Amino acid sequence: MTASNDETIQSTQKVGFISLGCPKALVDSERILTQLRIDGYEIVPTYENADIVVVNTCGFIDAAKQESLDAIGEALTENGRVIVTGCMGADAAKIREVHPKVLAVTGPQAYEEVVSAVHQYVPTQLGHNPFIDLIPPTGIKLTPRHYAYLKISEGCNHRCTFCIIPSMRGDLVSRPIGDVMGEAKRLVDAGTQELLIISQDTSAYGVDLKYRTGFWDGRPVKTKLTDLCEALGELGVWVRLHYVYPYPHVDHIIPMMAEGKILPYLDIPFQHGSPRILQLMKRPGDIDNTLSRIHQWRNICPDLTLRSTFIVGFPGETEGDFQQLLDFIEEAQLDRVGAFAYSPVEGATANALPDPVPEELKQERLARFMEVQARISADKLQKKIGKRIEVLIDEVDEEGAVGRSHADAPEIDGMVFLNGDTELKPGQKVMATVFAADEHDLWADRDE
Ligand code: SF4
Repeated sequence: MTASNDETIQSTQKVGFISLGCPKALVDSERILTQLRIDGYEIVPTYENADIVVVNTCGFIDAAKQESLDAIGEALTENGRVIVTGCMGADAAKIREVHPKVLAVTGPQAYEEVVSAVHQYVPTQLGHNPFIDLIPPTGIKLTPRHYAYLKISEGCNHRCTFCIIPSMRGDLVSRPIGDVMGEAKRLVDAGTQELLIISQDTSAYGVDLKYRTGFWDGRPVKTKLTDLCEALGELGVWVRLHYVYPYPHVDHIIPMMAEGKILPYLDIPFQHGSPRILQLMKRPGDIDNTLSRIHQWRNICPDLTLRSTFIVGFPGETEGDFQQLLDFIEEAQLDRVGAFAYSPVEGATANALPDPVPEELKQERLARFMEVQARISADKLQKKIGKRIEVLIDEVDEEGAVGRSHADAPEIDGMVFLNGDTELKPGQKVMATVFAADEHDLWADRDE
């Protein structure tokens, strides 16, 4: 009897997992890991202890593809039994060309396929036993306990010419509002203090379902961003919106931010400030209207933080277009900005556009852009000196605590340093007064 028990325990199969890419890919990884745990697999952190390795890849730009191919190569060398999934999995031929020894390749959001490939190559002899396999009701999370990414839809209905996500992930598919709210509630019950709402296009939530009415908490709620924000705002935690496309109905969300229901923070990838380039990108090009909306939003919600990303050196960009971009960021006074020099992505329609910008000029423009934005960011942060802010603590060490204000998303924005505050705990929220700033971060003293 004892022998057979030992045999059962030893037969637990071990899976190594490598998660690359953006927060959306991270959420995919969490779902796959949760399912594997439910199915009785053990997740291990080293190649040598794993019976098989799953690599969740990113294929957004060429550099990310190369990183994915390198990660697959390393897993093959170190372990030898590798399953590939994620965005780059959409191009199975390319992966097999470089790494013919991979066991299976599955595409993005193919949770069942990747899990069944794991079952095929390392069959588990332990089924799910609810008495011994304690999966937290939130599933497996790869972020710290106090914040979590909440994915509300997959795919995208736009066709921006520089992007291949719609061809990899398909058109928009929204999750039913009851599911999204159920997951949000479980996360909050498990200690999450901040929900980061993600998708390819957050403002399009529910368009595919014709804003169908679902149910949450015993009442009807529409599958629509405004209704979702209202419902999330009742959970009593920070709610932060990422990847918002500037549709008109975004205007209705700003009053909720002013009322404190959700964080006054919008991450809108504007991508450019020249109508001509925006048209070439197939993005909304009415930049004057965008600027007047930004001014209106700030009138309604003066605390609003705007984060954006831009592409510099898109094919056909003239000095005049670039100057319009600089004028746009001067006028828009965005708080947080990321910028990239355009690089062609295999399969993107922008590759066929004429007049590519020479590499040197792209880099020169990128440097000029960043110089202007660094000054804007530094000026905006200087104005926070003397203000009281709420800080969510991320980490504490012997030097003090590091957290973020409502203006800072994890990993991409700035931080707030509370030097000497060693007794705080991650996930705690405290009030503090800012006494110093640079172009990214703030230093503050906790209020007594
Ligand atoms: S909005 Fe444009 S850039 Fe974003 S995922 Fe859709 S097609 Fe790609």
